[in-house]
Amino acid sequence: MRYSKMLIPTTKETPAKAEVASHQLLLRAGFIRKLTSGLYTYLPFGLAAVKKVENIVRQEMNRAGAQELLMPMVQPADLWRESERWDKYGPELLRFQDRHGRDYCLGPTHEEVITDIARRELHSYRQLPMNLYQIQTKFRDEIRPRFGLMRGREFMMKDAYSFDASDEAAGASYQTMHAAYTRIFQRCGLEFRAVEADSGSIGGSFSHEFMVLADTGEDTLVICRECAYAANVEKAKVVLPKANKSDKSDKSDKTGQLASVSATEPAVILQECVKVTTPGMKKVDRVAKFLEVTPKEVIKTMIYLADGEPVAVLVRGDREVQSVKLKNLLDATDVELTDDDAVWQMTKLPVGYIGPVDIPIKLVADQEVMAMTDAIAGANEKGHHLTGVNPDRDFTPLQVGDLRQITEQDHCPLCQGPLRLTEGIEVGHIFKLGTKYSEAMNAVFQDQEGKDRSMVMGCYGIGVSRVLAAAIEQNHDKNGIIFPLPLAPVQVIILNLGLKSEETTAAAEKLYQNLRAAGLEVLLDDRDERPGSKFKDADLLGIPYRVTVGKTWEKEGRVELRLRRTGATTSLAYEQAAAEIADMVKAELLSLEKTAS
Ligand code: ATP
Ligand code: MG
Repeated sequence: MRYSKMLIPTTKETPAKAEVASHQLLLRAGFIRKLTSGLYTYLPFGLAAVKKVENIVRQEMNRAGAQELLMPMVQPADLWRESERWDKYGPELLRFQDRHGRDYCLGPTHEEVITDIARRELHSYRQLPMNLYQIQTKFRDEIRPRFGLMRGREFMMKDAYSFDASDEAAGASYQTMHAAYTRIFQRCGLEFRAVEADSGSIGGSFSHEFMVLADTGEDTLVICRECAYAANVEKAKVVLPKANKSDKSDKSDKTGQLASVSATEPAVILQECVKVTTPGMKKVDRVAKFLEVTPKEVIKTMIYLADGEPVAVLVRGDREVQSVKLKNLLDATDVELTDDDAVWQMTKLPVGYIGPVDIPIKLVADQEVMAMTDAIAGANEKGHHLTGVNPDRDFTPLQVGDLRQITEQDHCPLCQGPLRLTEGIEVGHIFKLGTKYSEAMNAVFQDQEGKDRSMVMGCYGIGVSRVLAAAIEQNHDKNGIIFPLPLAPVQVIILNLGLKSEETTAAAEKLYQNLRAAGLEVLLDDRDERPGSKFKDADLLGIPYRVTVGKTWEKEGRVELRLRRTGATTSLAYEQAAAEIADMVKAELLSLEKTAS
């Protein structure tokens, strides 16, 4: 590839409206261009990078025994009516009619079409298990397409579907895919975690999301610094150290954990509940300061609307409510924090002074609150709080559960190790479906006894184009992309800085030929540009290995090799350069393959 002949339209300016790094850099590096909202053209280098992901995915799916096929993107409504998703799927499903007035949709996913194939072509237990996949453009009419390739309306997905004769066998197929996904993201050179995901109405824990760790993601994850534990904060369980009610001498405990009180210690004498004046002290911090306690000793009362009904939620003063946990505890479909006016209108409770004692609305509490003693809480009277508030004695919540957001000060629920919070980007999702689709669409096979049974299914998606965006989110600096070697559109860029000299140009050309002969993917920057802009573009494109042929070649017969990731430079003798670089590239790729095996 010669840069002068390629369409790689790099730009200096950061495009307006591109909020995240991957979107900005994909545009600036000339990898993609927007057609209209959520629709992008992949220019040659963008496509080359996406193909890298696609090839790794294909190789690993094949290795895991799955077979590639290709289904139509346009799907007839009748199949979706059989699964009852035509009505349920919502406006993300782009529906349209053909000239005969028949209903169709653009495939956002292919459970219906693949189940139709299975019921026609698979009849006996002898044909199972079977795993079929495709790599194809999907369409979802996303309400807010954004962040470039991260959330497009049209995007590339690998979707696989497994068919098994029994639940147990389906579990094994699921594990095979879990392992294949792990290999895929390791081979891509990405830092990622598999997290247990919400399996919605189907239940069970057979759903995992594969998350690439990055500073900008739509999900917040908590990961263990010591073991493989990872979870979405919406699900991450806060495990309190084994404890009874804290005794008072423990109040200065900086860790915020509860001390245990042994049965032999004398019983703690609880304070009386007393009303105190706290004028203008609406916030936890101010009340705590005013009463000379820490926020840990204050009970925070938040008013939520759960499916329209007001609910008072208690957490310790230094904690935050995790609304998804609240939603799950209440078994509600929607919970939202109410604003001050609405609280007053609905409950006549004075915002800032609300507390659990004698509260006239539904009350739920985080587990930690129940271990507090002699706490401060709102008095449900303007300008007043109560001291000496004790759970069980002074108030009894209808429900108690794990309702607060986990923090880095909590401990890993598996190994007690230290935790780290990070953002995550969902790049893959695996799901044990069971017989939901096979029953709805009558996909049956004959078992060993000749009896008809529904096939047990699984489905497994990877957002191939989103992987590219996620890789850039995780790997970039202020100068541009830093491609993990396996995903780079080319592995090496040669900068010819002596374009005016025939000898230098010939030397760069020969190096280019030699590297290609060694099996490497190379871009030769033969443009008539200043060295400065060649360096800048090489950085922006994120190509892992950069070789400069210029003055040092003319004077000393040497070229300079620079690694994009570390910025480390080495001077190589021209004659050995091709072989040495080829060795380095191959060794780096091999080490990722080894990690994956
Ligand atoms: P999200 O929660 O991000 O909307 P999803 O859970 O609806 O995604 P799945 O149905 O699990 O997505 O699809 C499989 C994979 O396809 C996802 O893990 C993700 O990587 C990718 N994907 C989904 N929606 C998009 C999109 N709009 N643009 C790019 N990739 C997407
Ligand atoms: Mg998903």
